[in-house]
Amino acid sequence: MGFFSKDVAIDLGTANTIIYVKGKGIVVREPSVVAIDRYTGKVVAVGNAANEMIGRTPENITAVRPMKDGVIAEFDITQAMIKHFIHQAKVVSVLKPRVVVSIPSGITEVERRAVEEAVIQAGAKEVALIEEPMAAALGAGLPVDRPTGSMVVDIGGGTTEVAVIAMGGIVSSRSIRIAGDALDSAIINYLKKNIGINIGDKMAEEIKIAIGSAYEDNEEGVYDVRGRDVTTGLPRTVQIRESQIREAIIDNINEMIEAVKMTLEHTPPELAADVMERGITLTGGGALIKGIDRLIADVTKIPTLVAEYPLDCVAVGTGKALDDIKKLLAKNKVR
Ligand code: ADP
Ligand code: MG
Repeated sequence: MGFFSKDVAIDLGTANTIIYVKGKGIVVREPSVVAIDRYTGKVVAVGNAANEMIGRTPENITAVRPMKDGVIAEFDITQAMIKHFIHQAKVVSVLKPRVVVSIPSGITEVERRAVEEAVIQAGAKEVALIEEPMAAALGAGLPVDRPTGSMVVDIGGGTTEVAVIAMGGIVSSRSIRIAGDALDSAIINYLKKNIGINIGDKMAEEIKIAIGSAYEDNEEGVYDVRGRDVTTGLPRTVQIRESQIREAIIDNINEMIEAVKMTLEHTPPELAADVMERGITLTGGGALIKGIDRLIADVTKIPTLVAEYPLDCVAVGTGKALDDIKKLLAKNKVR
């Protein structure tokens, strides 16, 4: 640890937390999961270590995802998690760092304060907050400061955030609680109902990443799904096809597209015209669902592209916002 102050950016996502240090890049990338001892209330593990405990923990240990649906479901646990990751990033030295945190746009004033407090308690000198869609757009390299409108769709774990951005601000936006987690649940329900097999969250996510797709093409991936037979309760392996998973998740994907349309409807015509012409940029882990860009382009008739490194956009954009930290701090104080 050196005797110099560092500028730090944190992407506090519902699925993953990423810490970016200026001049260094990404130093922490871990699932937003905390393992808690139910009897003592103590934190047992955080991040990857906690994630590995899900579904296979002794009864007294529960793995918690303290951020749910884009909001902080568990205050104290979220704070403990933030602290843990900041220490893991080794950015607190004699000179305390300045930190920018990207937060879901749906969180309340009280929750904003809780995040600020957690970061200060973890050893930050100052903390500023930035809204996720803005960070995502910055990270995707969109011209957010220009008068032309840009649209970003960030598909995370808990929420899909759609926003049109121009002149450094969010012009119109929409946040729905349908994103990666909802797709996992849809897969679980589909397999239970149509195949008669029960699977866990992890298996569902695995299937989604392996053969999830939003658009029909010539490929038809298959996946061996391990679960439990609904009637016998015994372990069972079934080969599932890509088209089945598409059927399972398509309603949720259509909801995301509906949010895109609604956001455009609430965007001033000139800026909406910019979006029609310049296209839509997809960020977040959900942007990696095969063919989702093609389906959105097909339905909306707007060119749609997946950002390079979609999982990193919010963290990198929050890092870019560090340059404007004075402006952000001033903005936070006004409120
Ligand atoms: P958050 O910002 O909410 O933490 P992320 O942007 O990190 O979320 O995205 C996490 C979500 O993306 C999870 O639901 C995860 O399953 C999903 N995801 C990650 N990689 C892929 C992939 N290759 N295909 C489909 N979904 C993916
Ligand atoms: Mg995110």
